[in-house]
Amino acid sequence: MKTILKTNITVKDICEGFVYNELEGKGLFGLSGKLTIQPEYQRNYIYASDGGKREMAVIESILKGYPIGLIYFNQVSENNLEVLDGQQRITSVGRFVTDKFAIKDENGMEQYFGGMAKDKKARILGTKLLIYECEGTESEIKEWFRTINIAGVPLNNQELLNAVYSGHFVTLGKEEFSNSQNANIQKWSAYVSGSVNRQDFLECALSWVSKDNIGDYMSSHRFDKNITELKKYFNSVIDWVSTVFIDVASEMRGLEWGRLYEAYHKKSYNPKKVLEEVQKLYGDPYVKNRKGIFEFILGGLIDTKLLEVRIFDEATKKTVYATQTAKAEKKGESNCSHCAIGHDANKEKIWSLSDMDADHVAAWSKGGATSAKNCEMLCKTHNRAKGNR
Ligand SMILES: [Zn+2]
Repeated sequence: MKTILKTNITVKDICEGFVYNELEGKGLFGLSGKLTIQPEYQRNYIYASDGGKREMAVIESILKGYPIGLIYFNQVSENNLEVLDGQQRITSVGRFVTDKFAIKDENGMEQYFGGMAKDKKARILGTKLLIYECEGTESEIKEWFRTINIAGVPLNNQELLNAVYSGHFVTLGKEEFSNSQNANIQKWSAYVSGSVNRQDFLECALSWVSKDNIGDYMSSHRFDKNITELKKYFNSVIDWVSTVFIDVASEMRGLEWGRLYEAYHKKSYNPKKVLEEVQKLYGDPYVKNRKGIFEFILGGLIDTKLLEVRIFDEATKKTVYATQTAKAEKKGESNCSHCAIGHDANKEKIWSLSDMDADHVAAWSKGGATSAKNCEMLCKTHNRAKGNR
């Protein structure tokens, strides 16, 4: 790969012919049309999010004469360059110079480029950027791109995969799952967490259809002319969840719905009964992990581990241990009720607190509370045996 360092390109040069596409959230062209700012493998513009702090910081850095870091262009053909890295910073500059956002001046007043003093304008436009122009084969460039994570917001995993497997399939996938204008996003947000712009929805759809083998899936579908399977699978999962669980709860966001769909979509459920169960568990003070409620119900209310049912606290255990042991000593039998009715050497054994575990007399799943009244200390062996029943 060949690289040339350019030090004479100014902000003014870059912003010549700058176009920002509001709908797609992308900075498109610069350098009088010679530069493509947002190639397909680049992520959307994200510096305007979080109230625009990052894009304002870029402009403030320039005004103070601070460097804004290295920028990389790829020489695609004689008259065509693409931004490999620096797209967010370039788009910030372009958006500012075209009055798309304002910075705050020393007095906290909003200041647009158009309204700035001449000398400040000139300082911004005259700022020289540090640019590497690279020339190489597609695979060289992609390999290199995969290894860089330069200043600003590092690329996340899905953004890197989009870069590595760029092509028609990724473009279509992004159109569907990385497009904040898509009217379905709101519905999907009930089940999928993360940000549309940072490719979290695309990542989720890919992980569901590929059973978590996103890289392999993208590689084998890279040259597909459609994303039919991806869309179909994703919609099947969403339809299934929203049919089984008719009410949306915030804990449903970001669960492994793809895995749960695979495990349970062939079983039938009565949505009304399911809703009652959800509500009952939501109202149960002993359920610590509400995220586990959905899988617990899908699996037939068996695996209570999913709910992390509250366990007895140390104070309760100590109190119960003391009463139980005092009684046992009076009777001359073991303080573990199961040992006491046995026929071996442990019949009269007084266990120490550390050798015992707390047990629900009436199981939690049968309505037993996690309180001293429903607590019995058993020796570890018997407690384990009971738990395994
Ligand atoms: Zn025992």
